[in-house]
Amino acid sequence: MGNKLEGKIAVITGGNSGIGLATAKRFVSEGANVFIFGRRQNEIDAGVSEIGKNVIGIQGDVSNLADLDRLFDVVKDQKGHLDILFANAGIAQFAPLGEISEEHFDKIFRINVKGLLFTVQKALPILEDGGSIILNASIGTSKGVGGSSVYSATKAAVRSFARTWTVDLKDRKIRVNAISPGPIDTPIFSSITQNEEQSELFKKNIINAVPMKRMGNPDEVAKVVSFLASDESSYVTGIELFVDGGLAQI
Ligand code: NAD
Repeated sequence: MGNKLEGKIAVITGGNSGIGLATAKRFVSEGANVFIFGRRQNEIDAGVSEIGKNVIGIQGDVSNLADLDRLFDVVKDQKGHLDILFANAGIAQFAPLGEISEEHFDKIFRINVKGLLFTVQKALPILEDGGSIILNASIGTSKGVGGSSVYSATKAAVRSFARTWTVDLKDRKIRVNAISPGPIDTPIFSSITQNEEQSELFKKNIINAVPMKRMGNPDEVAKVVSFLASDESSYVTGIELFVDGGLAQI
């Protein structure tokens, strides 16, 4: 698959599932060494064996700052530095306005916004000048999807971070970009809906709205992340790159 990430060291949060796992596989096949970070040890272990080589799994929660310290301590001990950070971990839960609980609000902001911000901030001391940071946002940054107000607001915050951090990190020549996937077939859909039947209906309705009339697969996002991670995108920073089959473009 080429070697455009040859010798690069990468961290992928949520690298044991869905988009993160597909990206970890692609990064390794393109020559990188990858650390995957996620909450559940058994899923991390399964991800590590699926990726097969040049991968280290670390268990932890992005919203726990001590876990993030441990993550980057391990990367420093093992490899000395970091070239690529894919801040991908996130959760999706929906509740319509009128039914939003304080717990719902706090949980999604804690993981998607606080967790992502401190993932990036705590990576900075070991991130090489000239490195690449990719943030996983969502089409929710610019579409109104019913019931998604808290989730979409967290993703709008993530998109905003890419703009500000592009400026904050410019002297170190670190590029910061956001990706905004449309509907991608990953386990995340089971957390948005109550059961399998609802999940299938939700997917069917979304597919109808997508110009390409299908969901994306995780590797279609991974290819874009790899582009933003590599020198192929050397003059690209601060953007939001949509990987959505056209959904948010029409
Ligand atoms: P997924 O559920 O397969 O993966 C999410 C990953 O994040 C898992 O590995 C999970 O363990 C990890 N994670 C969640 N909370 C965490 C925490 N507190 N600490 C550490 N890790 C944590 O779903 P996915 O679709 O691959 O989602 C990845 C990202 O893509 C998310 O940020 C999601 O919002 C975004 N996204 C997904 C879609 C889609 O349609 N699948 C669309 C737009 C954006």
